[in-house]
Amino acid sequence: MTDQLFNESAGICVSTKPAWCSEKLWKTIKKSVKEGLHKVEFSFSRPEKKIFRKRKAIPVSQWVEKHRVLSMSALPGIWRNDVTPYLVGIMDAAALPFVHEINICATPQTGKTETGHNFVGYCIDRAPGPVMYIFPDEATGRENMDDRIIPMIQSSPRLRQHFTGKDRDKSSLRVRLQHMPIYIAWARSAARLANKPIRYAIADEIDKEGFSPGSSKEANPLDLIDKRFNTYRSIYKFFKISSPSLEDGNIWQALQGSDVLFDYHVKCPQCGARQLMQFENIKWDGGSKADRAAIKNKHLAWYECEHCGGRWDDDLRNQAVRAGLWMVQDQALTMDAYLSRFRPASIGFQIPAWLSYFVSLSECAASFLKGLDEGPMAMQDFCNGFKAEPYRPKIKTQEESEILAHRIDLPAGVVPKDTIALTAGIDVQQAGFWFMIKAWKKDLSSHRVQYGWVTTWEDINELIFNTRYPVENSKSSMGIWRAAIDTGGGAKGAEDDWSKTEEIYEWIRKNGRNVAFGIKGATHAQVKKVTPRVIDRMRRKNKPIPGGITLYFLDTAAFKEAFWWRMGRRFQDDDDGPTETQHITMHADTGMDYVRQILAEEKQRDRKTGKIKWVSVRADNHLLDCEVYSDACADPEWLPSLSSLVRRKKKKKHSGGGERNGFVNAWR
Ligand SMILES: [Zn+2]
Repeated sequence: MTDQLFNESAGICVSTKPAWCSEKLWKTIKKSVKEGLHKVEFSFSRPEKKIFRKRKAIPVSQWVEKHRVLSMSALPGIWRNDVTPYLVGIMDAAALPFVHEINICATPQTGKTETGHNFVGYCIDRAPGPVMYIFPDEATGRENMDDRIIPMIQSSPRLRQHFTGKDRDKSSLRVRLQHMPIYIAWARSAARLANKPIRYAIADEIDKEGFSPGSSKEANPLDLIDKRFNTYRSIYKFFKISSPSLEDGNIWQALQGSDVLFDYHVKCPQCGARQLMQFENIKWDGGSKADRAAIKNKHLAWYECEHCGGRWDDDLRNQAVRAGLWMVQDQALTMDAYLSRFRPASIGFQIPAWLSYFVSLSECAASFLKGLDEGPMAMQDFCNGFKAEPYRPKIKTQEESEILAHRIDLPAGVVPKDTIALTAGIDVQQAGFWFMIKAWKKDLSSHRVQYGWVTTWEDINELIFNTRYPVENSKSSMGIWRAAIDTGGGAKGAEDDWSKTEEIYEWIRKNGRNVAFGIKGATHAQVKKVTPRVIDRMRRKNKPIPGGITLYFLDTAAFKEAFWWRMGRRFQDDDDGPTETQHITMHADTGMDYVRQILAEEKQRDRKTGKIKWVSVRADNHLLDCEVYSDACADPEWLPSLSSLVRRKKKKKHSGGGERNGFVNAWR
């Protein structure tokens, strides 16, 4: 029993030196025992105490107000919950042991990304475990590590003590702290996602391109992440954070799959009534015709309390939000009550822009008015960026008679007055060409001047370069300013198609004259409606194209969407009001041949993928394609744009300058 240092009555028996015991202390203990003493007193050093002490548990929201320091922020300094009060409930709910998935569908500038950082900061201090951040692409990932995550740790005295002090432990792909790693991954990096056990995952901007599976064979990156939790199955946390896009987008799907959804209810500073803020209660004078720039710049919008009718300006709105709380969607039950009763594993939150301290009520109103004014793309920006809702495109097109109602009393081939430019869209077939010539006014309303079918390149040359189209009630005439010709190309490698494409390239290079351009429909949705790309080789045989050729890739689905939206605009003054911008009119001779082709495609929801797409319901849709191509010519994204030419024209008028292209020519 020589190693038995303490007898049982003394409480602790140890026979060999425990790891925590220093050599010096061990000697003291042995000496004391030899001298017949059974009690040794010692104390822990400060760092030892720090490690052994049982710290009082505090909610994440309280932790951040003590230890989270913002460096890159509109409001730098220690984190303040009163700036984004709605994040308090989310952070605290996320920390509950039974909650594993936190889905946050929020607009920009609501602090949604900071929620993830706050939680990771808390975990570094209080509940360590491997963290993986997943971004849409590598560049965004590295940027976030360098500009957000490392500075977050560095700026907090509580967190930075966990750095190892070695440079190699601090890269833009991985930070190794003393007690846990933080990894960066991106949606397409299946390899990075596949081999590391993680306890915390923060997937940010999951509706951005990188996160959508590239093909039906590929797994959704979010499902790959889910497999990483196996080691930590009972204690993992998975944050999915994003602005929404469409209904089939990742964040909306995640939200709908949550066990429970919460809405943030604010409290009226005037009458004290709790309510869910709705866009319909943001008010301004002038309705849909109001000047949106003035509303935004002069802060002319306000919120109307649905109980007392009181007006909130942005300050009162902020007060209302500070006094708010999360409620179960469509139920009179607070989040706290629900959580303790039902212990859900996955929870979802929606944060519209009007809750944000950083977004004025007037900005919300202005974005909505822009959507009314500019069409589907702008309306999607409003839905996604302010309402925190997916954009739901309208599927309805028009009846035959409704389409023909757009005819006005102007014969084919005549240009309406106030036209600033003519565009042409040409669809190429083996036997000839479909074409559409359109007149544009400054407000982007358009008139179909002429459409039809010709058979030879000479006809096309005549149509685009040599014809002057007379302007109504005047002696002047106009030529085509810009023409877009479909380059088609190699569908399933058909030899005929490729030789046609080469023929078209050749014609554009020889005859284009900065008026006629090649276009190509993009097969998947693009970020922009019009994307120019220089092609310097033929895809077939890799044959070089001398000097290269600029092709304009078009998001044809977006253009079709915009076309039908424009068809719904008021094109003549009537009891409901005056004509609207971007309306559509047609020449008097427009007939059923046009209507049938326009209605040859219908918007449908794909049963398998749930995605909305345009499907041919009749064989000939060429004039609809011509509509798209001629619209693309006048789209603000095709530079130089129509509006820049209006500005240039004004300048020229002053300086009396000469003419350079069809547009200025046409203007005289
Ligand atoms: Zn009120």
